[in-house]
Amino acid sequence: MTRFFAPGRINLIGEHTDYNDGFVLPVALVQGCTATVEDAASGWAVTSAQTSDEVVVERGGLAGRDGVAEWATYVLGALWLLHDDGVDVPPLRIAVDSDVPTGAGLSSSAALVCSVVSALDAHLGLDLGPAGLLALSRRVENDAVGAPTGGMDQLVSLRGEAGHALFCDMRDLTSQAVPFDPAASGLALLVVDTRAPHRLVDGEYAARRSGCEEAAKRLGVPALRDVTADGLDDALAELNDDELRRYTRHVVTEDDRVLAVVDLLRAGRLDEIGPLLTASHVSMRDDFRITVPEVDLAVDALHEAGAIGARMTGGGFGGCVIGLVPVDELDAAQDAVRRAFADAGFGEPSLFTATAEAGARRL
Ligand code: ADP
Ligand code: MG
Repeated sequence: MTRFFAPGRINLIGEHTDYNDGFVLPVALVQGCTATVEDAASGWAVTSAQTSDEVVVERGGLAGRDGVAEWATYVLGALWLLHDDGVDVPPLRIAVDSDVPTGAGLSSSAALVCSVVSALDAHLGLDLGPAGLLALSRRVENDAVGAPTGGMDQLVSLRGEAGHALFCDMRDLTSQAVPFDPAASGLALLVVDTRAPHRLVDGEYAARRSGCEEAAKRLGVPALRDVTADGLDDALAELNDDELRRYTRHVVTEDDRVLAVVDLLRAGRLDEIGPLLTASHVSMRDDFRITVPEVDLAVDALHEAGAIGARMTGGGFGGCVIGLVPVDELDAAQDAVRRAFADAGFGEPSLFTATAEAGARRL
């Protein structure tokens, strides 16, 4: 029997920069998924403590995906892909159990996939190594499930380090741990899961993505990452479409903010990153236009309650907000958010403080 844990994540800063070959700065959470792999008599059987059905399939390749419940494809995907890669995967039983809320933007999917892939790697003695683990985890979400994720979630779920955020370059998928310990500065990282229903997500995401690609094409660069902050005004002058200008301004300034936050964290100046987090939110709200009233309200309430910075985290149209809050103000900030939601007639948000934890590990 082999058992691995892999965490969910929040993204400290760097939103919609991933598919523009840019920078992101996620943090692995204490919440995560545990995957247990055991030898079985025949076939592949998967269970989840969060679903009632056991799914059993014949051993085989990705062609066996049709008709399998979607949640199980996150688990079986790794087996199917390994089979198609020529690995003789024996009969197995895989059980998963996660405390990452699904669909909240905390990457329950990467926690699930990375725990399974890590456990399989060890159980089968595959020796995939860091690059192989990342590649297989991404292929499970992209090719087996069919979710167009950019790789950040899997990177930090596999490689997060305790007390650090993970600075990722999404062009070459390299990462570097950067110190991140808010408690040492008398601060707490408060996460507000707004539980706002995701609205129009697929179409809006696709529109942003293709808009960014179109802007890069018109500017003659491989991706918006290649427009520098210094070159932004010239780039904006070249684009004669207001929407493309707003997308470009968000992505270029957001990349720049990630780099600025990384510099501050490396210099031990965590208490100065607040305005950059807030500027990121304003850019997502006004330029990229991916926020919803619930997340804007949470950000405003956090600021009024003394947060030194706050922003929506994740792809948008719902999901979570993070705030850097002085520890002394933490209770008041949580009350303020709950009260603001009640006054606005929104559903009750879920709040917790996050610390930076380690990535995937054997239990
Ligand atoms: P997020 O990753 O932001 O939570 P996704 O839509 O990417 O949202 O992934 C959520 C999906 O992952 C769920 O709908 C479900 O199919 C699958 N999933 C995640 N955790 C579990 C679990 N513990 N058991 C079964 N399925 C899970
Ligand atoms: Mg996901």
